[in-house]
Amino acid sequence: MARQFADAGYRLVSPSDGADIYVLNTCTVTHIADRKARHLLRMARRRNPNALLVATGCYAERAREELTQIEGVDFVLDNSEKTNLLHILEESGRIAAAGNHDRSRQCRGLRTRSFLKVQDGCNCSCAYCIVPLVRSNEKSMPFDQVIAEVRQRVEDGCKEVVLTGTEVGSYEYEGAGLKELLERILAETEIERLRLSSLQPQEISPELIRLWQNDPRLCRHFHLSLQSGSDSTLRRMRRRYNTTDYQRAVSLIRSAMPETAITTDIIVGFPGETGEEFEESYNFCQKMDFARVHVFTFSPRPGTEAAGMPDHVRPQVKKERSEKMLALAEECVRIFSNQFLGTNVQVLWERQTGGLWSGLTGNYIKVYARSSEDLTNRLLPAKLVEVRRDGVRGEIG
Ligand code: SF4
Repeated sequence: MARQFADAGYRLVSPSDGADIYVLNTCTVTHIADRKARHLLRMARRRNPNALLVATGCYAERAREELTQIEGVDFVLDNSEKTNLLHILEESGRIAAAGNHDRSRQCRGLRTRSFLKVQDGCNCSCAYCIVPLVRSNEKSMPFDQVIAEVRQRVEDGCKEVVLTGTEVGSYEYEGAGLKELLERILAETEIERLRLSSLQPQEISPELIRLWQNDPRLCRHFHLSLQSGSDSTLRRMRRRYNTTDYQRAVSLIRSAMPETAITTDIIVGFPGETGEEFEESYNFCQKMDFARVHVFTFSPRPGTEAAGMPDHVRPQVKKERSEKMLALAEECVRIFSNQFLGTNVQVLWERQTGGLWSGLTGNYIKVYARSSEDLTNRLLPAKLVEVRRDGVRGEIG
């Protein structure tokens, strides 16, 4: 969506700059995501009372009325309207076309890591998930269009493209899948780093891993959603794998590339989760040596199977489990980063906050360093010297 505006000559600014147009791409995956969306819309309105305020995304799709009722929201648009967003707004007469076509200048805010959505929709039916209710059936962007998009981003100065989708592992176009797509991107574009968003363990195959072994431009980072390390909970969640499948996928990756970061998502307090199941899940996570774990406390989403399940876990118990899992998540970051202390790593530097630059390595370690130079969007090596709470302090040069 930002690209639509940039292409038309609009200038992209930070939300805190008091923008003339705010577009919030909402998420509705948890009730916390909903709350954040409402909060951000109100904050945008306070920042510029005269701004045009637009809400779109899955929350807008699920509960249009709720967002329309927030004071100051001018437009609530479905996911299907996103690709035509600028046209809809200009047609409404509420904004005038900017008429400035200095594209390279306008795209500045889009550089560094660039997210490219190549797939949408999900045909699975995980019991807790609201996504299939708000997204259409699976569809994928044609190969040629993906290649053209990646080339355009390279031309705009992007160093890293992250391929995303509701279920990027199920990418399929004219009988070919994700592996073929990656092969073509690597062969036909000059992108320096290519990363994938979330995959499921059953999508990891020796053929897929071979691509990583053969091309260092593919980031040594796999986000493999686990959701629970207890097989009985996974069955109730209607996930399509068990912990044995998961472990097999992790071993396949690690035996080929031991330095790879494996990150994951975990839900605690799924309906019926007993103390033993939680312990199983916790112990499995510990055994997997994750580089990062995103912990979600289960919250029922309207219309999902899990919302109607019996034996919901008491809030206090969910809180205790979440705290325990979060402590493990923190420990995981520390242990994973610790192995790389003293080594030199390539970092894609993204931004400076409070005098400290931050960026990511290919294997998803967040590195902080001081520099008097402008490091934005530069791939530069740093020596890792000290593990901090959420990353590693590095030294440049
Ligand atoms: S695979 Fe992912 S998006 Fe699809 S239903 Fe399951 S959790 Fe939701």
